[in-house]
Amino acid sequence: MAPIVLFDGYSKFQDGNYYANCSCVLIKGPPNVVIDTMTAWDGERILEALQKHSLTCDDINYVVCTHGHSDHIGCNYLFKKAIHIVGHAVSFRDKYFSDHNFANGEEYIISDNIKVISTPGHTLQDVSVIVQSNMGITAITGDLFEKI
Ligand SMILES: [Zn+2]
Repeated sequence: MAPIVLFDGYSKFQDGNYYANCSCVLIKGPPNVVIDTMTAWDGERILEALQKHSLTCDDINYVVCTHGHSDHIGCNYLFKKAIHIVGHAVSFRDKYFSDHNFANGEEYIISDNIKVISTPGHTLQDVSVIVQSNMGITAITGDLFEKI
């Protein structure tokens, strides 16, 4: 089990316009976790990438969006069997779990090797995923820096 970057994020100015998308990361478990789901137009790409790892959307147990910007939450709708963690909000369908307090520094434990913590970011409710694997400890931060 180790984080797999399905897509590299980017931000760039081109032809007078600004383009950006997040990195999308898979932790193949169990539990299976997808971190940041890109824009609403990236669903087919995500499905194909998961298929290469012998997974479907229904195999994903958790979706974590490091923050609520549109290029990080666009394909959350694909993962109907997963618990969704978007910034500090934890939900399943229309049920929001109010028993977790990221703002107080409380860690959200997904498994012995995967946890979600509140971290500074460019919104007030950013989170990062900390993964312990055979690669060591990895932090998936979302928009830590802009790749140009
Ligand atoms: Zn952002």
